Amino acid sequence: MPLTHNQEGEPIGFTAFAARYATEEACYKKLYEVRKAAGFCCPRCGCTELYPIKKRKVYQCKECRHQTSLIVGTAMEGTHLPLRKWFWAIYIAATDKRGVSALYLQKHLHTAYNSAWFLLQRIRQMMGMREGKYMLAGIISFEDTNFKNKQPGLPQRRGQQRANVLIGMTKTEKGGPRYVKLLHVKDLKGETVRAALGTAFEAGAELQTGAFPNYRKAMAEKYLTAYTVADADKDMLLWLRTVVSNIKLLFNGTYHGLDARHIQRYLTEAEYRFNRRRMEDSIFDRVLAAMPESAHITYRQLTRGAG
Ligand SMILES: [Zn+2]
Repeated sequence: MPLTHNQEGEPIGFTAFAARYATEEACYKKLYEVRKAAGFCCPRCGCTELYPIKKRKVYQCKECRHQTSLIVGTAMEGTHLPLRKWFWAIYIAATDKRGVSALYLQKHLHTAYNSAWFLLQRIRQMMGMREGKYMLAGIISFEDTNFKNKQPGLPQRRGQQRANVLIGMTKTEKGGPRYVKLLHVKDLKGETVRAALGTAFEAGAELQTGAFPNYRKAMAEKYLTAYTVADADKDMLLWLRTVVSNIKLLFNGTYHGLDARHIQRYLTEAEYRFNRRRMEDSIFDRVLAAMPESAHITYRQLTRGAG
């Protein structure tokens, strides 16, 4: 289990983390702080004075007496799991560089597989919401790649084998990798690429790419008019490919049988951890901070929707 750090800067592991949030009371207290910081108020009248009743599970509005809870309207709404299992799962998902599978979580949290899987998807959703707020700007190294969609023991259906992924990366002042964006696209047609980049790269950015020149030229002239397209910085291209191959290893090692509907969520999880790789001491708090504005999503939406 990877280490993180306490407030004094000392490293602590999962055991210490779990001890800090061993009771529902401790978790509710923390969650209340998070909701309060984000502006916890009565969903009916907007009053910000709410009183805890029933061991903090319910809060009553001082004005209209409407009762609400800390998890109503968030990704945690309707959960049957104790809060501490949520906390532990967030900690594990946010800090384990290898990426966590539902199976792993099931064993550690002693829950049913479906509960662990659903929990992970909602944690990825919180991470994704946070990631969605940031766009890359300036000089961006850019390439497309594809990920094998391994399904051991199952016959491959057409179109399922490979997932097209666009990857962009900015660099630090010292020339190393800074932030990445990973975008799952259904194909590599110019308009598809343009639409995807528009969600993640600011207009006016310079895309440096090592892509095949003919393809690049056509893309740049016809579709990427919001960006300048230039030759790649060779060092950055190497970094880009290293990051891509690490993520591919992660996918092959942890997420066997990727479901096309969920690929973007897995990519976002990898992206989230990469972009915060030097923030391990605060990463749990960062994920939890996304909770108040994370929308409620149901198991049914996840398993039936287009992802
Ligand atoms: Zn009210």
